[in-house]
Order: sequence, then structure tokens, then C-alpha cells
Amino acid sequence: MCNNNGHCRKFDAGTMCPSFRVTKEEQHLTRGRANTLRLVLSGQLGDEGLASDDVKEALDLCVSCKGCKRDCPTGVDMAKFKIEARTARARVNGLSLRDRMVGEMPRYAPWASKFSALVNGVERVPFLAKQIKQALKLAPQRSLPVFNGNFLASAEASQQPATTTREVLLFVDTFNNYMEGDNAKAAKRVLEAAGYRVHLNVTKGQRPLCCGRTYPLFRSV
Ligand code: SF4
Repeated sequence: MCNNNGHCRKFDAGTMCPSFRVTKEEQHLTRGRANTLRLVLSGQLGDEGLASDDVKEALDLCVSCKGCKRDCPTGVDMAKFKIEARTARARVNGLSLRDRMVGEMPRYAPWASKFSALVNGVERVPFLAKQIKQALKLAPQRSLPVFNGNFLASAEASQQPATTTREVLLFVDTFNNYMEGDNAKAAKRVLEAAGYRVHLNVTKGQRPLCCGRTYPLFRSV
């Protein structure tokens, strides 16, 4: 789909491409990535193809914002290709510890929230935080996620009595539920103030339904 028009090299082209705006390297913009994928199609990256280090290097800094899908004149969707490439690589090399920690977050987030004083305290012990970030290959400048509650299990998530026939489902994802509960609380209050009876994505006694966004690599490995 990429016709090499170079729109992604512009700095005023809407969203795309944030990684290029930082590194200014052709390899880190949509066109450069498309050209790397062409090398895969023509067999120039050897048997490893999509799973190769070259593809990983080209796609690693893509933040999957889908800016290219919207801004590129031919609608190249590099985020979609990135998932395919990461899946191909995971099939060959397995999942890394970081992949597992990010992917399994919806499963351990309830426990991390329950013991949040302990989990969040890690960042206050620089040596420990450094070791964990190194093991997970996270940039040392990044802070570890802060777990601060479980909105869907709180009293604030309780349903209002049915006084209206206007109903709406508010989907609270893992991040809003366990890390940014105030967002979910505010959204529910706004909807109720607008006259809606708000249903939430939870069934008593079960783990809340999640969007699956952290799991794309797990599906096919
Ligand atoms: S999805 Fe990736 S390639 Fe496309 S604009 Fe965002 S960072 Fe750039």
C-alpha cells in the first residue's frame, strides 16, 4: 500500500509518525517500516523474515498509535503489521518476561491492587525498582504502574435503582479499573446525571470482562 510519497516524513501531518519525530531516522517512520516489510516479501531478510532482528528493530519504536492509518494517503496500518511481526517473532523465540507481565496484567491486577502498598512501594526502593525494570527491559526513566483500587468492586460501582428506561453499558478496562478509578467514577456520574441507568462490565464473583488489548501476542503463541 505504501507508494513512497513521504507524507509520513512531514512534521505537520497530524499524528504520524511520532517515532520519526523523535529519532528523525527513516527506519523509524511508516515508509521506512513499509520498505523493511518489502524486504521480507522479497525474501531479502532470509528465512526468518517477519521474525528477523531487522524487522524487530524497524518496528520496535512504533507506538501503535494508528496515526498512519488515518493520516497516510493510502491508509497504511502499521500497528496491524506490528502485531503480525511480533507474533511471528514470538512463535520463534517465545514470549519474553515483559510480554508476559504486560499481557497477564488483567489477571494479576486484582492482587496487585489488594496489596498496593507493597507493590507501589517498589518505586520507593531505587535498587529494587532498577532491578525489576532491568529484568523487564523497561526504560529506567519510566515509572512502574501504580495500582490504587478496584473500581468495579467498590461501593461506587453499585447500580442505581431503575428509575429510567434509558440504559447504557459503561466498559471499564483494566487500566481504568485498577489504576485510574477516578476516570470510571466520573464517567458513571456524568452518565447518571444525564439520566441513564449505568450497567458495568462485571458479573458478581467473576473477573471483570477485559478488552483483551494486552493479549494480542498470547492468542497465537
Ligand atoms: S502506528 Fe506506528 S508507524 Fe503508524 S504513525 Fe503510529 S508510530 Fe508511526
